[in-house]
Amino acid sequence: MKSFATAAEFKRYRVDEKQPGSTLAFVPTMGALHTGHKSCIDIARGEGDLLVVSLFVNPTQFGPSEDFDAYPRPLERDIALLTQWGCDAVFAPSVTEMYERAQSVWVDVEALTGCLCGLNRPGHFRGVATVVTKLFNIVEPDVAVFGQKDAQQALIIRELARQLNMPVSIKLSPIVREADGLAISSRNQYLSGAERPAAAGLYRSLECGRDLLKSGERSRQAVVHSVRRSLTGSGIQDVEYVELLHADDLSAVDPVAGRVLLAVAARIGATRLIDNMVLEVGAEVRERLLF
Ligand code: AMP
Repeated sequence: MKSFATAAEFKRYRVDEKQPGSTLAFVPTMGALHTGHKSCIDIARGEGDLLVVSLFVNPTQFGPSEDFDAYPRPLERDIALLTQWGCDAVFAPSVTEMYERAQSVWVDVEALTGCLCGLNRPGHFRGVATVVTKLFNIVEPDVAVFGQKDAQQALIIRELARQLNMPVSIKLSPIVREADGLAISSRNQYLSGAERPAAAGLYRSLECGRDLLKSGERSRQAVVHSVRRSLTGSGIQDVEYVELLHADDLSAVDPVAGRVLLAVAARIGATRLIDNMVLEVGAEVRERLLF
């Protein structure tokens, strides 16, 4: 596997290695790799002839009181894992390489950002959309894979690629979970031994919402309340949001019908965790992929 720290070096590699008519598949990450990332990488492997992963903790998507400095950066371990997982190239730029000039051009996806994490993390998705655009312009992927773990992010990137006519197809990986249901995340390592069992309460609360819908409930408020009650029952008091929205465009849904996104965000101690489930709600209720 080849490793590059500058856009110029990566671009030279791309010219040399990408055969005409071949496909380049790309997985952008912030590193501290885990099996959730591996799932995106495995899907990308099946989509492309050349597989490229980026490792970049993007400062512009972190708020001033968020964990940019504390975010784990185990670069050597990540590179060893990517080699093991069969990646062809890794692009791991520095902050100054990505933001050589003070950034004054921003990509703002106005739709899809006014709810869920967009409400609670002002500027976050502007930072994400901007860095993904920059990475796409450097890597020039034919296919890029994102995880449903960050469902709102995946919808925003799909919309970004559509509306800016980017020649890239956006694919999705399902959420990879621990045995007790906790969605795997680089931030799980912040959880103390005492906090870790409570964190599984996020997934249990989604199951609780799903089961209520399965029992025939179609009131949005009733489902949201039951998910909140379940979170509280698991000892999770600091709930940022519980929402049930149309999965395509994040618009309001009540009564609940069609493909819906049930999403939660909560703090366990100082650690902010998110999780979600996509359900097709009709005569029956089935779990689905976001897209
Ligand atoms: P991050 O390094 O957190 O920016 O994540 C990089 C990519 O991996 C994003 O598209 C995430 O949605 C995806 N991802 C992170 N955790 C998981 C998970 N548990 N299951 C599936 N995809 C994930």
